[in-house]
Amino acid sequence: MSSATVDLEHGQLTDEAIRSTMTNCSRGEAHRMRVPGWVHECDPAHEVVGWRDPKAPERGWLLVPLDEAVVGLALRAAPGRGVRATAVCDLCRTTRSPGDVSLFVAARAGEAGRKHDTVGTYACSDLACADNVRVLRATPTLKPDPGLSVSQRQEGLRERAAAFAAKVLATRD
Ligand SMILES: [Zn+2]
Repeated sequence: MSSATVDLEHGQLTDEAIRSTMTNCSRGEAHRMRVPGWVHECDPAHEVVGWRDPKAPERGWLLVPLDEAVVGLALRAAPGRGVRATAVCDLCRTTRSPGDVSLFVAARAGEAGRKHDTVGTYACSDLACADNVRVLRATPTLKPDPGLSVSQRQEGLRERAAAFAAKVLATRD
């Protein structure tokens, strides 16, 4: 397990460091990952970072803080434009418009993944959960979890993303 996760020194978030956190895809897939420039400014040891791959429409990537390390997850979105009704993201609990929440699946790490064992979650189609929990005023298309402060929402997002990452790693259920 320790080989599957890596600590990122603050300020050292290179593409190579990001690729090395990936736990549930081949090295080739990690190598082909496109990392938008803004990701290098993030601090995935303390917040969930997610993005859709600009060159691979069904691909999504998530960096999750878990037990002092960063777990990188390769996700695949269900084909199509997302859930057709208003839906709530399982990770950030934001209520989104039709099409803005998608079902994502992650192969389980290791042998289970090679046998096509997957874990699924509904999440914001753009995987921008970290931004969505910071929204102060609900809009008709984006309603953050009501009655919580931004820091409570951030904490909830970290906890739920960590639980999802743990399922992928099969360290907890
Ligand atoms: Zn979300």
